[in-house]
Amino acid sequence: MKPYLREKIPTSFEDIPETTSYEAGFLVTKNAGWRNVRPVIDPAKCVGCLNCYLYCPDGVISRKDGKVQIDYDFCKGCGICKKICKLKAIELEAEK
Ligand code: SF4
Ligand code: SF4
Repeated sequence: MKPYLREKIPTSFEDIPETTSYEAGFLVTKNAGWRNVRPVIDPAKCVGCLNCYLYCPDGVISRKDGKVQIDYDFCKGCGICKKICKLKAIELEAEK
């Protein structure tokens, strides 16, 4: 099943906030303890398009030091970011 695609909104890397939802004060407790897979970004494939940021339902993807990063304290491992990444720069790895 293809993910639902929103109307294209022009964005640039600089439009993306450098804070996650947690850092912005929307979440109060770490809540990723039940995640069984974690998304891992391959920096060699990632071009910083930030589609993953736009579609992450938990707001845990942000840009830090010029790179796309995931806040694993709050990521639920839903895999939407992997699904939406056209460059296949995100893999889901089993939690150990
Ligand atoms: S969607 Fe893929 S290529 Fe785009 S920023 Fe996210 S990981 Fe990088
Ligand atoms: S797995 Fe889900 S919650 Fe975690 S970063 Fe990707 S889209 Fe966000």
